[in-house]
Amino acid sequence: MIDNDTDCHYCGEMKAVVVCHGCGIPLCNTCTRLEDYGFGCDGGQILAFCPDCFRDPGVNTVLRFPEP
Ligand SMILES: [Zn+2]
Ligand SMILES: [Zn+2]
Repeated sequence: MIDNDTDCHYCGEMKAVVVCHGCGIPLCNTCTRLEDYGFGCDGGQILAFCPDCFRDPGVNTVLRFPEP
């Protein structure tokens, strides 16, 4: 998944731990935004996004389904 020597591509200061689900860049813990894709009764799925993708409704589709 993540190479031990890969730096976060968002801040460039910390080691990457996950990859953005939207654009695929390596992210450190600080820059990762987690979104809970727990729809219906299938149980939840947590996806990791970078801050840019997290705010983009075209990438983070949870934003299209706001809480009532
Ligand atoms: Zn970072
Ligand atoms: Zn991204």
